[in-house]
Amino acid sequence: ISNYSMGSVSRIKAGKAGVEELLPVLEKTTQQALRAGNVIRRIREFVKRKAPDRKALQLSRTLDDAIAFAEMDARNRNIHLELSLPEGPLPDVFADPILIEQVILNLLKNAMDATVTARSGPRRVRLEVERDEHTRSLRISVRDHGCGIPDEIRDKLFEPFFSTKTEGMGMGLNICRSIIEYHDSRLEILPNLPQGSVFQFTLPIWQADIHQTRTENPNEPVHTIHANTP
Ligand code: ADP
Repeated sequence: ISNYSMGSVSRIKAGKAGVEELLPVLEKTTQQALRAGNVIRRIREFVKRKAPDRKALQLSRTLDDAIAFAEMDARNRNIHLELSLPEGPLPDVFADPILIEQVILNLLKNAMDATVTARSGPRRVRLEVERDEHTRSLRISVRDHGCGIPDEIRDKLFEPFFSTKTEGMGMGLNICRSIIEYHDSRLEILPNLPQGSVFQFTLPIWQADIHQTRTENPNEPVHTIHANTP
């Protein structure tokens, strides 16, 4: 929203903005404001009720949207974002689309922040999906070559309001972890040798015979499916 608005302001100031030019930009701004409203409403609902709205989700769309969204930030910070998918069509997963997109965006943002903090090393962040036939799930990883996570900080990462950034709120990982746990998975952190970190989690591949009933009874307590939990 601020990018679109700042762009419009500088065009108006430069006397370059006609109605035809400004209208599509304003429409995009409106779209993003509505989207932001939906995201905030969804996160608020989740924090209050802790119930994700899971359905058959076309993960490739969520990944494309997240990359497109993070791309603006990446370009400004001179970081290359990569998307790596397994061969063949990606199966649907059983997940809440808005919440999972927020988790991925949060991990991408953290990975880019860590890349900038590191000052050296490849300025590359990779969003990776692998298929795990054994647990019938997809593993989603965000890999950076950033500053890494010192041992003394590792245990505090998920604490509410823990942040090492001057402008950080420190709520991102705490909410991400809850969202992932309510998807019957775990948010795992591994070192990316020689430098950086990998944040990863799995999502179950959609199986109509198992998941349909849970979609029909969204208030049913989350219990039975732990197939993808290592
Ligand atoms: P915020 O980004 O607002 O600080 P988060 O909860 O998302 O809040 O992250 C908490 C802290 O975890 C960060 O301040 C940072 O110190 C650390 N962190 C998160 N992701 C990474 C990463 N990819 N590499 C290194 N440190 C990280």
